[in-house]
Amino acid sequence: MAGMPNMYTPQDPTTQFPRPPFPPQQQKGPGDIHKMDPAPDHGETSYVGFGRLPGRKALVTGADSGIGRAVAIAYAREGADVALSYLPEEQGQAEEVATLIEKEGRVAILLPGDLQEESTNNEVVAKAVEGLGGLDILVINAGTMPTVDSIDDFETKTLDHVVQANIYPLFWLTKAASPHLKPGASIITTSSIQGFVPSPSLAEYAVSKAGIANWTRAMAQQLIERGIRVNGVAPGPIWTPLQPAFVPNEKIEEFGSQTPIGRAGQPVELAPAFVFLASQESSYVVGETIAVTGGMPTH
Ligand code: NAD
Ligand code: MG
Repeated sequence: MAGMPNMYTPQDPTTQFPRPPFPPQQQKGPGDIHKMDPAPDHGETSYVGFGRLPGRKALVTGADSGIGRAVAIAYAREGADVALSYLPEEQGQAEEVATLIEKEGRVAILLPGDLQEESTNNEVVAKAVEGLGGLDILVINAGTMPTVDSIDDFETKTLDHVVQANIYPLFWLTKAASPHLKPGASIITTSSIQGFVPSPSLAEYAVSKAGIANWTRAMAQQLIERGIRVNGVAPGPIWTPLQPAFVPNEKIEEFGSQTPIGRAGQPVELAPAFVFLASQESSYVVGETIAVTGGMPTH
């Protein structure tokens, strides 16, 4: 999205980014940002940093594409070194993010692996700590979103997969990271509007996202005793590969039209919430999940 005014130029947010209809398009999961039309904005040219995370060391999961990619780029522009976790088949997209981080003069660590395995979570944290020389920020953002239209089609393996990918890593990554996190550190989760206002065909996903917001509140109360803050972000409909990978074409065409703002969000529009929650400026925000939903109420 080259040529867009940068995100700090005051402008009408309803027309700042593409509005539906979107061209019909489908992908195989986990999906590729380069096959999306229109191209999503992850802040590659639009995110401007203000030094809000000087010298911080961050691990971001799902960092190759979508929201995680925007967070990784923003963190580097704010002065952080970033370790990137992603699935092995996303190597090319992750390397692009690493190149952007290195352009900022920051360190990027590439950590491919499937987080459905406990041992991968331990390895990802160990390699992030080793490569960055410590850890201050853990963003647990990776997720999967199968759609199942009817309870008649429910399969145990679908729910196992969703819980294994979306819930277990909360515990595994946090347990592995916590010995390295000092007072002032921050853990940030990605929940969803679906965790509060579920769609009928996303029951398996929505229950996991409600679980993430709930875990965020519980773990915040545990870890604040160590000076570590845990918070979350609940995105509305965001233009990422998750959508063409899991959502049928008739919903892609109208994607984002159900929001009061009238359009899908772009990944870059999530980044400032993750920067705020990672930085010391949110020192009194604990156990909160911030909605970035284009006006869709979460309560
Ligand atoms: P995305 O596909 O770009 O990112 C999801 C990432 O999760 C993938 O890139 C992949 O690297 C990672 N991932 C998935 N399964 C994994 C596994 N088993 N092991 C390791 N990594 C795995 O899409 P996104 O929309 O940016 O998704 C990021 C988060 O945002 C997810 O948790 C998603 O549920 C959440 N979310 C997205 C939307 C939306 O509309 N796009 C809305 C609300 C919440
Ligand atoms: Mg991806």
